[in-house]
Amino acid sequence: MSKLLHKVDPAFARCPSCKSIGALNRSRARTIWEKILKSLRIFRIYRCSECGWRGVKFSFGTTKNFLKKLLYLALGVVVTAYIVSYFLSRYFN
Ligand SMILES: [Zn+2]
Repeated sequence: MSKLLHKVDPAFARCPSCKSIGALNRSRARTIWEKILKSLRIFRIYRCSECGWRGVKFSFGTTKNFLKKLLYLALGVVVTAYIVSYFLSRYFN
């Protein structure tokens, strides 16, 4: 049962473009969208050393951690929306 929760090593992840195994390396975020995706910690940016493919891949954490991150993200969106609507109603009414 514990083997199912074993963390997948990114070094052994398969490249979506050339299908080579172990060629993916973690890459730095370059655009604002990549920085946002990276800050969410749900996706990670990879680059393939074999074919040059670059993109985001789902970060393989445990399901529990993923749900926790998703919950924090949803909570952050709700709180931000609430604060924005509060200030908008305060200054535009
Ligand atoms: Zn590749």
